[in-house]
Parts: sequence; C-alpha cells; structure tokens
Amino acid sequence: MAHYAMLIDAARCTGCAACRVACQMQWQLPPEVFFNRLEFRESGKYPDVKQEIVPVQCMHCDNPPCATVCPTKATYKRADGLVLIDHDKCIGCKYCVVACPYDVRQMNDRGIPEKCRFCAGFIEKGEQPPCVSTCMNDVRVFGDLDDPNSEISKKMKEKPVYQLAAEKGTKPRVFYVKRGG
Ligand code: SF4
Ligand code: SF4
Repeated sequence: MAHYAMLIDAARCTGCAACRVACQMQWQLPPEVFFNRLEFRESGKYPDVKQEIVPVQCMHCDNPPCATVCPTKATYKRADGLVLIDHDKCIGCKYCVVACPYDVRQMNDRGIPEKCRFCAGFIEKGEQPPCVSTCMNDVRVFGDLDDPNSEISKKMKEKPVYQLAAEKGTKPRVFYVKRGG
C-alpha cells in the first residue's frame, strides 16, 4: 500500500502563486478561497532582514485532530495517507476548522470546510497534482514514501527535513527541507 507525502523546498519558492492558482482552477474555487497559501515570514533586523516564503496547505496528518473531533466521521484518514471529507456526512459544525493547528480549512458555499485533497484522482491516474506540475521551480515533490525508489523517498534522504508544528503531535505528511541543511 502506498503512503503518500509531499516534500516542500521553500527556499526555491519565488512567491509566484502559480500553485495556488492551479489548485483554484482545478477545483473551480472562487478567488477568496484557496487550499494552499503562501506565508511571507520575515526574520532579523534592518538591514539584515531575511524573508522566507513558506507554502502551507493541509498536512494530511497521520494523527489528524480534524478527524478525531469530527462527530459524524465525515473527515477520515485513508490507508494511503490522504485525509478526505465525505460531503454527505458533513453537518457543517466546524469542529475540524477549530481543531486544525494549521488553519487550512476553508468554508465552501455549501457550508463544508474544504481543504487540499492531495488530488487523489491525479494520483490514481499516475499523474502529479496540479500544484506540483505547475511549479516552475520544482518546489514540491509528491509521491509514495513507502517506495524507497520514489523521487520523494530519495530526496528525503538527501537533506534534513522538518515538519510544521511537529510538537503538536499531528504527524504531518508534508515535510519541509531545512534551510542550509
Ligand atoms: S492539516 Fe489540519 S485539516 Fe489537514 S489533516 Fe492536519 S489537522 Fe486535518
Ligand atoms: S464540519 Fe463536517 S467535517 Fe468538520 S467536524 Fe463537522 S462534520 Fe466533520
């Protein structure tokens, strides 16, 4: 069984937002709704200010608090790592919105708190999610971490990686390349 994950090399991101737009087009989202966002983080003091652009999306956590709190089991974790939402079971209570430490849930026009789906349909066809294939700077690598020969498995061995808010115990399946690693 595959176990999918994403590796993001934020140092390569120029902030062009092509990934965000590709995702919005794929899922026909209105301009104000997006499943991946770019965080512009500044550090240091003038004149030694550094800016980092960090793409953030649903982390498809292995220990997803959004699924734990869901009273109807609308949010669920698949064996292949994807955290998905069964729209027919969702009652719009927003417990998942509050529980998510990454603030990635976005209400759609049907009152369902949507998010990145790791583009399950693309994976099943052997294709890459649009956010991955659209990026001109190869910021994202997506694939099966259980396959030692996958590109993501190989890249994860090349450089040290970290996860956002790992201390919360969510076990995210989105990893980031450490700067200077
Ligand atoms: S990032 Fe948030 S919405 Fe995604 S699986 Fe984790 S807790 Fe759930
Ligand atoms: S809003 Fe829907 S998906 Fe979120 S916790 Fe409630 S029922 Fe589950």
